[in-house]
Amino acid sequence: MPETVHMVSLGCPKNLIDSEVMAGLLARKGFRLTPEATEAAIILVNTCAFILPAREEAIETILRMAALKTPAGGHCRHLVVAGCLPQRYGAALARALPEVDLFLGVNEVPAVAVHLRRLLAGQTGRRNRTGKPTFLMDAGLPRLISTPAATAYLKIAEGCNNRCAYCVIPTIRGPYRSRPPEDILREAEALVGQGVRELIVTAQDTTAYGQDLPGRPALPGLLHDLASLKTLKWLRLLYTYPERLTDALFEVIAREPKLCKYIDMPIQHIDDDLLVAMHRRGNSALIRERIARARGMIPGVALRTSLIVGFPGETPSRFKRLHAFLAEARLDHVGIFTYSREEGTPAESRGPEISEATKQRRRGTLMVRQAGISEEINRTLIGTRQEILIEGPSAHPEYPFVGRCRRQAPDIDGVTYVRGGRLRAGAFVTRTILAADTYDLCAG
Ligand code: SF4
Repeated sequence: MPETVHMVSLGCPKNLIDSEVMAGLLARKGFRLTPEATEAAIILVNTCAFILPAREEAIETILRMAALKTPAGGHCRHLVVAGCLPQRYGAALARALPEVDLFLGVNEVPAVAVHLRRLLAGQTGRRNRTGKPTFLMDAGLPRLISTPAATAYLKIAEGCNNRCAYCVIPTIRGPYRSRPPEDILREAEALVGQGVRELIVTAQDTTAYGQDLPGRPALPGLLHDLASLKTLKWLRLLYTYPERLTDALFEVIAREPKLCKYIDMPIQHIDDDLLVAMHRRGNSALIRERIARARGMIPGVALRTSLIVGFPGETPSRFKRLHAFLAEARLDHVGIFTYSREEGTPAESRGPEISEATKQRRRGTLMVRQAGISEEINRTLIGTRQEILIEGPSAHPEYPFVGRCRRQAPDIDGVTYVRGGRLRAGAFVTRTILAADTYDLCAG
C-alpha cells in the first residue's frame, strides 16, 4: 500500500509552484496524494510568511492539521511544515511547534520524497532543515498542476534584489536567480503538451529577468519565444516593476496576439516621499508616465496594481494623494493591503507608526473608491465580445459556467459567468458581455 500524503499550499502562486513540484516528486516516488486530510499518513503544509496575516493563517493551519495526529482526529502519523515560515524562523519555530515532526526550508523542495521516506522509516535526524536559499526550479522536476482546467503558472526566476524597505522576501528567498531561457521553454513546452492553454509568467519581479545571466536575455525575448508555442492560447505576465516596464516590453505585449493585454504593476504608493522611504526606485512621475505609455501603446490594456496603506509616515495629506490617484488613474484592478511591520526589514524601526484602526479605515476608504471605478470600467464592457476560458460549472442561477476573460487573472481579479449548455472546462468561447458588477462579468 502506498503511503498517503495530504498537502496544503498557502500563499502566492510562486509557493503554489513549489507545492506542485513537491506533489510531482512524491507521486513519482510512489506516494499517494489525497485531498482528504483525515485519511493521510503524512500531512505537509507549505507555508507563506510574507506578512502577519499570512503567518497567522499558516500557524492556524498547522495547529488544525496537528489535531489530526490524535487518535480521535485522523490517521496522521507525521506532520511536516515546509516553505517560507520555517525558512524565516528556523530553530525558533521548531521549538515553538513540538507537534511538527519536520521543518523543510525552501531549498528542500527537490528532496521532499527522501525526507518523507526517512520519517516513515523512523530515522530521526535534524528536525529543522533550513539553509541559505539557493533552490531554483528546473524543467527536469515533475509537477502536478493544481490550477483549474487549462491554466498553469510558470516561474521564470527565484528571489529578489529590490530590497523594498517593508519586504522580507529577499531574506527568505535569497537573491534574484533567473532560470536559463532554454529551461523555461522546455518546461513551458511540457506544460502545453499536457494540455495547458494559459501560461501565467511569475517571479518576485518578472521585469528583472535575465540580468544575472550570461548574455542578459531579457523578458520581451522570452515572452516572444513562449508565445510561439503552437497550442498555447494565452500568455499572461504578473509582478512587473514600474521602473523596468520598457517600451520593448509594451511592444511585445501589443504585438503578440497570445499575450493578454494585461499589466500587473504593483506600485505600492504614489506619494514621492513615501516611495523613497519604501526604497522603491521609480517616483510618481515615472509611474504616471508608465501608465500613460502602457495605455498609448497597448489599446484596451487592463491595468492592475497593489497598494500599501499605513506605511510609517503616511500623513493624512499623503494618504489623500493616494486616494486622489485612484480617481485619476482609473485602474482596472487594485489590491489594497495594510502595512505589516516585519522583523529584519529596513522599515522595521521606522516611524511614526500608523495605528491599526487608521490603517483599516484608510484601506476601507480606498476599497470603496476603487469599487466604484472598477464597476464603471466593467460596465463599459457590456456589449463587447470577449474570449473566455471556461473553468467549470458555477453556482450562479442564470449563468451555469464560470471562466475568465483576458482581462481577468485567476484568484486576484473577478470572473466571467457564462450562459449556455455543455461547456467543457478548458474550452475557449467568445461571448457578448451582458451584465457587469464591481468584480465580475456575465456573458451570453
Ligand atoms: S520587488 Fe520589493 S516587494 Fe516585491 S518581492 Fe522584491 S523586495 Fe519584495
